[in-house]
Amino acid sequence: DVVVVGEALIDMVSDRPGVSIGEAPGFRKCPGGAPANVAVGLARLGASVGFVGVVGDDPFGRYLKAFLRQNGVDVTYMRVTKEALTTLAFVALGPRGETEFSFYRRPGADTLVSPEDLSPAYLASARLFHFGTVSMAEQPSQSAVWAGIERAAAAGLSISLDVNYRPALWADPAQALVLTRRALEAVHLLKTSGDELEMLSGSRDEAGARRLLDDYSRLSLVVVTEGPQGSWAVTRGGAVARAAAFEVEAVDTTGAGDAFWAAALWQLLGLARRAGRSPKEVAAALDAPALRRLLATANAAGALTVQVQGAMTALPTREELDRFTAR
Ligand code: ADP
Repeated sequence: DVVVVGEALIDMVSDRPGVSIGEAPGFRKCPGGAPANVAVGLARLGASVGFVGVVGDDPFGRYLKAFLRQNGVDVTYMRVTKEALTTLAFVALGPRGETEFSFYRRPGADTLVSPEDLSPAYLASARLFHFGTVSMAEQPSQSAVWAGIERAAAAGLSISLDVNYRPALWADPAQALVLTRRALEAVHLLKTSGDELEMLSGSRDEAGARRLLDDYSRLSLVVVTEGPQGSWAVTRGGAVARAAAFEVEAVDTTGAGDAFWAAALWQLLGLARRAGRSPKEVAAALDAPALRRLLATANAAGALTVQVQGAMTALPTREELDRFTAR
């Protein structure tokens, strides 16, 4: 159903919440990388999903590939290379699980994913293509994203983007905006933070989301996540909805947005299958109550994730999500 391209990496999560990285005495090794998290999140919810990306031929890379495989992600097009080491991200945790990232080993193996890794036949067998902007900060991964977008569009797939802007990764942050805008021309399903919405549209409110829908004709759905404030969204059809976050004890918010988006995409795939239509079509046509339900279930996936350390390790299964939303 889904092909995801992007980075799989190791989050080195500080084991002392509230302490900055410079003072942290130790780190726990957690599998991560936003697109890989979305792939694992979708697989745990029961979607059929393939991850296209590159890791190093080192213990971290081999661990990541095994982790994805064990979680039900198709890793046929996940390449292990001797040309670079697996990327590491150091994560400092705040007292309420807030995160601060520092990347090490950039450019790492993840940036070596190339257009040749994206088999057109593999893409054409899916219904949804997902990527993030981190891959666009380097080459050849940037070209891989463009190839993925082109091939997915040619095959009629619904195209999903989580902006996930990380200024530190860009030699020229202005370039991030230019490339994100270019990618948005092809995107149907968009997830941003409030900051990213403001960066792209000039404001972090509903008017900003509506401007994006006006400016980018393919967009069906704009979803904005606001951490402990929950999420809201606007559709092409004009529906607007907001859903409050669940009140839970957050220990590590790494991967919350990815869990959220995996749950949102999973629901759209289900609605699309039942309606005999594409995810982009059902997203554009959601009415406000259906949109609110979609956000609430995605919020639940986020809430489950923030209560557990790590990103991938914390992503809920279908059973965990059902149990949480039924309470
Ligand atoms: P990202 O990780 O992309 O920055 P957010 O931090 O906005 O995304 O989190 C995504 C979703 O996860 C939120 O919309 C919310 O539903 C849930 N979430 C995040 N942080 C918390 C929290 N502290 N308590 C409860 N839910 C949270």
